[in-house]
Amino acid sequence: MAEIQETSVTSARQKHIVRPSQEMASLGKDDMPVLTKAEGIYVYAEDGRRLIDGPAGMWCTQIGYGRKEAVDAIAHQASTISFASPWYMSTSPSARLAEKIASLTPGDLNRIFFTTGGSTAVDSALRFTEFYNNVLGRPAKKRIISRIDGYHGSTGLAASVTGRKGSWANFDIETDRVSFLSSPNPRHAGSRTEAEFLDDLVKEFEDRIEALGADTVAAFIAEPLLANAGVIIPPKGYHARFKAVCEKHDILYISDEVVTAFGRCGEWFASEKVFDVTPDIITFAKGVTSGYVPLGGFAISDAVIARISGENANGSWFNNGFTYSNQPVSCAAAIANIDLMEREGIVDHARATAGYFRKALESLLDLPGAGAVHSAGLVGCVQCLLDPSQPDGTEEDRAFAARVDEICFDLGLIVRPIAERCVISPPLVITRAQIDDVVGILRKAITQ
Ligand code: PLP
Repeated sequence: MAEIQETSVTSARQKHIVRPSQEMASLGKDDMPVLTKAEGIYVYAEDGRRLIDGPAGMWCTQIGYGRKEAVDAIAHQASTISFASPWYMSTSPSARLAEKIASLTPGDLNRIFFTTGGSTAVDSALRFTEFYNNVLGRPAKKRIISRIDGYHGSTGLAASVTGRKGSWANFDIETDRVSFLSSPNPRHAGSRTEAEFLDDLVKEFEDRIEALGADTVAAFIAEPLLANAGVIIPPKGYHARFKAVCEKHDILYISDEVVTAFGRCGEWFASEKVFDVTPDIITFAKGVTSGYVPLGGFAISDAVIARISGENANGSWFNNGFTYSNQPVSCAAAIANIDLMEREGIVDHARATAGYFRKALESLLDLPGAGAVHSAGLVGCVQCLLDPSQPDGTEEDRAFAARVDEICFDLGLIVRPIAERCVISPPLVITRAQIDDVVGILRKAITQ
């Protein structure tokens, strides 16, 4: 057994950790900041430096760091009953949390399955569509339609429906079951109006279903906005039009709200109130616990469940689950998180602050190189475009954005760099004065 030695955090990490998105050539050599504590919207590095957490960790720390209510709930649950088999036992936190989430989801999405994070939520939701069609006696109805630029996670199936080809390199992806549509990026409209662009996207969807055969298509999966592609917001009416096509062909509509739920877009769930669609299934994770502990899940509509349960169950068992499904400590943390958000009106605050956030980002558009702003609620980006006529920027723009992010870091702001886009999705408790600080730093960085 390797001996545990007293080494620096960095050298222990370099020697022993493979991290997400690891460049293998730099394994053991790559450098990154060591964070030692956090409070509110700020994280602190080992050298004492305070940084504004622009990406809210990974789009997840809605209530900010160091909230006693979340910490106490975790400690209390861990010291009361820290684990119970989700196969054979039940505890209060998962039941209460499911009841609460069902009250926040749109429509009749009242049945919740808990997982360990976003990828497992997507994976299990996709396995559910497989199960659903088998129980309904339609074994050929298995294909999933997804979009270029969509991101859905890193487990096998979730990665297979991810339309960011960069993340496929050197992996074997289950492509025969998945079909990708064009990115709904309005900057790709070219000379078309946004309405014409939308008509073309809908036509592409209908044509694809016809080409594949509706009796082979199980589900359509989409993020309300494409966060991991750098905040791409589809044309107005996109989701409602796609849902109508799904309904026509008995295809399940899965809304991947891993980023957008729990207040990020100014509502508990963004699908219905922000994007005008009531899905059949919604996946969630991240903001459900504000990142204090891992948890994810998906909500299913009563109408869908009714088709395969009770006298329609056909002798079936949904044999899919995780040791940490319904994990009591995670669920207790989520309840404390949601309670705090309700008590402090954090979702209302996000909705009320969204316009200010947008205007603040737009104030940067006078700077050369700041080409466009995209936002919904408290997730937004400044697109670095030295030539604003380029829809997705150039190599030069990507280098420019990376440099902006580096300077921001030196000035005390973490920015999520995604290609030519500088993405900001702060903790939802951010104040207007703190938004001014964020934009002040971005201005200095872009100017430099
Ligand atoms: N779906 C979306 C839309 C995401 O943004 C992410 C992660 O960023 C995932 C799924 C995967 O979630 P996780 O990293 O918790 O597995």
